[in-house]
Amino acid sequence: MDFTIQILGSGAAVPTLKRNPSAQFVDCLNRHILIDCAEGTQHLLRKNGVKIQKIQIILISHLHGDHYFGLVGLISTMHLLGRTSGLTIYGPKELEQIIRMQLEVGGHRMGFDIHFEVLDTKGKIQIFEDSKIKIHTFPLKHRIPTFGFLIEENSKGYNLNIPLLEEDKIPVVYYDKLKGGNDVVLDDDRLIRFKKYTTPPSATRSYAYCSDTKYDENLVSIIENVTVLYHEATFLNDMQSRAKATYHSTAREASLIAKKSKAKHLILGHFSARYHHADAHLTEARTEFDSVFSAEDGRIFSIKRDLDLKLLQE
Ligand SMILES: [Zn+2]
Repeated sequence: MDFTIQILGSGAAVPTLKRNPSAQFVDCLNRHILIDCAEGTQHLLRKNGVKIQKIQIILISHLHGDHYFGLVGLISTMHLLGRTSGLTIYGPKELEQIIRMQLEVGGHRMGFDIHFEVLDTKGKIQIFEDSKIKIHTFPLKHRIPTFGFLIEENSKGYNLNIPLLEEDKIPVVYYDKLKGGNDVVLDDDRLIRFKKYTTPPSATRSYAYCSDTKYDENLVSIIENVTVLYHEATFLNDMQSRAKATYHSTAREASLIAKKSKAKHLILGHFSARYHHADAHLTEARTEFDSVFSAEDGRIFSIKRDLDLKLLQE
């Protein structure tokens, strides 16, 4: 099953003709997640062929406008188009009040339930899990409370050696236990060691979203071994002092976090409007880390089973 990241907006606070502010649509094993929802996001979803009603979860990293000013418009359109299925929105505590007030003063009565979940944590915590995926959140270092997200597919467990299981006449009812890495005792008192009948689980794919943040080595252990890291790179390193003062990062700093956390791939984004393209950011990041991509509006990345990262659409 697919694990794709569609970049809707790749720029920082000021929209330009080439870059919209932050929004990404993630499809993780048919779980449809919107991360951040800047002004214009509903147009970009439409332009990029994403059906807005299939969004089940919205993750809002923080309450700077370039990360959520499009949210009330998107919700309103979902209602106008007849949505009935619920929507869960994770965000900082003031978000619910802001959105509900905007809807209420306009006299909107939503045709669907909006469930707000407050993000408020000093460490890494799990906020969502179902049979296929899980989502964690963790704090970033920014001027106001800001949260990163880690979206992972669940492990399918150990791989069974079916021919051997059949040959030794191990009943199928025990397969799940063996998959989970447990030894079992059969009715005839035979002890079955899972290691004999399985091979180690396949690698699981994961995606970490870190925007906005200053350089923060606390992230390294939180996102260790992540398959794909999206890290903001608002500036180049010649503006490191400005990055520090505004609680943002440079391309080099983003690549250091990727290297130290042993990420497989890095996507840079949240570029300041002063840069007309991302070439210098890519060059700077590649001095520390090999597999670097730039977020560009409309780009779709696919995380493959073998943990490779492919560009599905430029
Ligand atoms: Zn911000």
